[in-house]
Amino acid sequence: MKSPACEIITIGTELLLGQISDTNTTMLAQQLREIGVTVRFRTAAGDRLGDMVRVIGEAVDRCDLVLTTGGLGPTEDDLTRQAIAEVAGAALEFRQDLMIQIEEIFRRSGYTMPENNRRQAFVPSGSKAIPNPVGTAPAFITLVDGRPVIALPGVPRELKYLMGKSVLPWIRERFDLGEGMILYRSLKVVGIGESGVDGLIGDLMAEGRNPEVGLLASPGEITIRIAAGAARREEALSMIGPVEEDIRRRLGEKIFGADEDTLEGVVAGLLERQERTLGVLETFTGGLAGLRLHQVGSAGLTGDLVIPGIDRFFEWLGREKENRAEEESLRAAQKIREEFRTDLGLACLGFPEKRDGFSEVHAEAAAVGEGVRKTFSWNMGGDRPMLQQRGSVILLNTLRLALLHQGP
Ligand code: ATP
Ligand code: MG
Repeated sequence: MKSPACEIITIGTELLLGQISDTNTTMLAQQLREIGVTVRFRTAAGDRLGDMVRVIGEAVDRCDLVLTTGGLGPTEDDLTRQAIAEVAGAALEFRQDLMIQIEEIFRRSGYTMPENNRRQAFVPSGSKAIPNPVGTAPAFITLVDGRPVIALPGVPRELKYLMGKSVLPWIRERFDLGEGMILYRSLKVVGIGESGVDGLIGDLMAEGRNPEVGLLASPGEITIRIAAGAARREEALSMIGPVEEDIRRRLGEKIFGADEDTLEGVVAGLLERQERTLGVLETFTGGLAGLRLHQVGSAGLTGDLVIPGIDRFFEWLGREKENRAEEESLRAAQKIREEFRTDLGLACLGFPEKRDGFSEVHAEAAAVGEGVRKTFSWNMGGDRPMLQQRGSVILLNTLRLALLHQGP
């Protein structure tokens, strides 16, 4: 299976002005990759005919397949139709069949069609039209020197529908991509940094390997993605298996889940299986750890108390401010456990200090309960949302590790 080279072109001045972000290219790139198309270039042009003609022309010169999104609407500045016609050296042709479909869409939603929308019934002559039942703008495919240029609407919902329903199957057939596919497996990692993961599995991440292994970092968490390209599903699965096993051997408990798993979901599951209840005390994380458990419907979560200020915290704890933080976090976990009368207490201690507009925090996490006593301390810097995000991850992970070493 030879992979066709593809260029994605987004059209719309609002993208160049930074008024909206380009989520369409991301979605298209993923979908195309999964059927074995190689996206080689992505370009953006504003609503100017000359610019569009130029980028579409260049794309056709350097790729086997071109996808455009946007500029198919009924207004003056929707010029994709004209641009593609010009590149193809074709005239725009009125298509009665498309006109009927567009009128039908207006009739069904109870509107009279504005005269403007007649424009959308024009496509470069010789094009294959793709009906669009979820919007008004029909999409179309025009061959330029035998290379398909596929014009798609900009509205993400319409784009997604048309790709799944018509465009991907058409591309598969046109380029004889068969059943070929790329299958993904994600392993979710916490408690180690990106370079740490790289040090452990870097040798598996060389470019061009199949399966390919890559990293995706977000605050506090890392996703390891294994991608296997194969002619069919079973084959891809059997390629992923040994690589996954190898990575699991190297990272051990740092891997908390796979694919759709979330850290809070995994922790909630452990609490449920062990039939334990939990009380949480949070400071700088502002209730984020508790919220995340609440969002996954954790039955064990009994209460979450937030005390953002250092003075109030020590007042609540009934202690002097100066004591060793690790002991204080254990005391706080124990006290919140007693207050909520839960099996487990979890506490996160830390009070960010601003230095040159940058916050730093020395933080402590503690989990206590019957047979459970785990603490963790760390330093980190960043803006507030980042500290809260990472703090909540570390707090939940402290609890996860404490629970892992317990019997059910
Ligand atoms: P319409 O018929 O609605 O005018 P269109 O094909 O002309 O569709 P645009 O007018 O370019 O598309 O865009 C319609 C809307 O779709 C934009 O307002 C924007 O919100 C969204 N959109 C366009 N391009 C993108 C993109 N690349 N990524 C995300 N959203 C986009
Ligand atoms: Mg438009």
